Amino acid sequence: MIYNFRNIFIASVEIIIMRDTPISVKCRCGGRAVIYRRFDGQALCKEHFLRGVERRVKQLIRKEKLLEDGDKIAVGLSGGKDSTLTLYMLNEIVKKSRKYSLSAIAVDEGIKGYRKGTIKHARKLCRELNVDLHVATFKDEFGKTMDQIVKSKDARACTYCGVLRRYLMNKTARKLGATKVAIGHNMDDEVQSIMANYIRGDMLRAVRLGAKAYVVKDAKFIPRIKPLREIPEKETALYCMLKGFDTSFGECPYAHESFRWSVRDIVNGLEDKYPGTKYSILRTFDRLLPKIRKEFLNKKIRKCESCGEPTSKEVCKVCLLRRSL
Ligand code: SF4
Repeated sequence: MIYNFRNIFIASVEIIIMRDTPISVKCRCGGRAVIYRRFDGQALCKEHFLRGVERRVKQLIRKEKLLEDGDKIAVGLSGGKDSTLTLYMLNEIVKKSRKYSLSAIAVDEGIKGYRKGTIKHARKLCRELNVDLHVATFKDEFGKTMDQIVKSKDARACTYCGVLRRYLMNKTARKLGATKVAIGHNMDDEVQSIMANYIRGDMLRAVRLGAKAYVVKDAKFIPRIKPLREIPEKETALYCMLKGFDTSFGECPYAHESFRWSVRDIVNGLEDKYPGTKYSILRTFDRLLPKIRKEFLNKKIRKCESCGEPTSKEVCKVCLLRRSL
């Protein structure tokens, strides 16, 4: 059976928005509300909603100093709603300033029936915005597609994919001379990461979270920034719908197998019952982060004995996975 994921996703977002937005609710300007936020009781019309998202993204960029003069920003572009919004927002900023430059990187893991479509959207968007797009593939770098890795290893796809994709993104950004990699992590993604690390007791990963996802300076690590970190997923989807962006709304076929997916279900269930849960998790974590970093940050960075990439162990995770392939 062939599903039209875009329509299914749009329908589900519309159902959520409609369920949360009683017809009688009006924006403060008197206009028809397109969203009613249960956690803060705010109803917003299209214009106020769009402006609000843009304002919050810019505020975060300023507050966390995500951009610095002379930055060459490479956006990790999957063609999905979050990375599309990230590229769009950063392009709006770069257009008005000579201080920054912008390009995009798409990593093709080789996932049949999924990635081809998203890369098509990424190419189209970059053409429209006049941004250079660089595509890096698992097949070229590791000799296998993600589908082949899953078949040969009988492994959980995300265990390999996450590590290899981050490595390839960093390597490509470095080749391009980028000084920052911007990724489309929204608030839901960040909250899921916080909870997943907490449940696993993985403090070494927890210290890497935050709007600037880098903590140890090394010439080979390109710092990663998350301009959408304070925007809930529902709002990134609504923004793209209202703007009419041609984005990919499909889910990766392996996503359901991941630990993150179970965490996502739990957090969404809590948010549904107790609106504001996600904000609360994020804010509490932000208050703890400086203390966690002080306690758990491993400032000693070594060179991988095999490939020379920075790592905290003798051999980096990418080399270990490469060997196992
Ligand atoms: Fe890779 Fe897992 Fe994300 Fe799919 S869900 S793209 S396999 S990390």
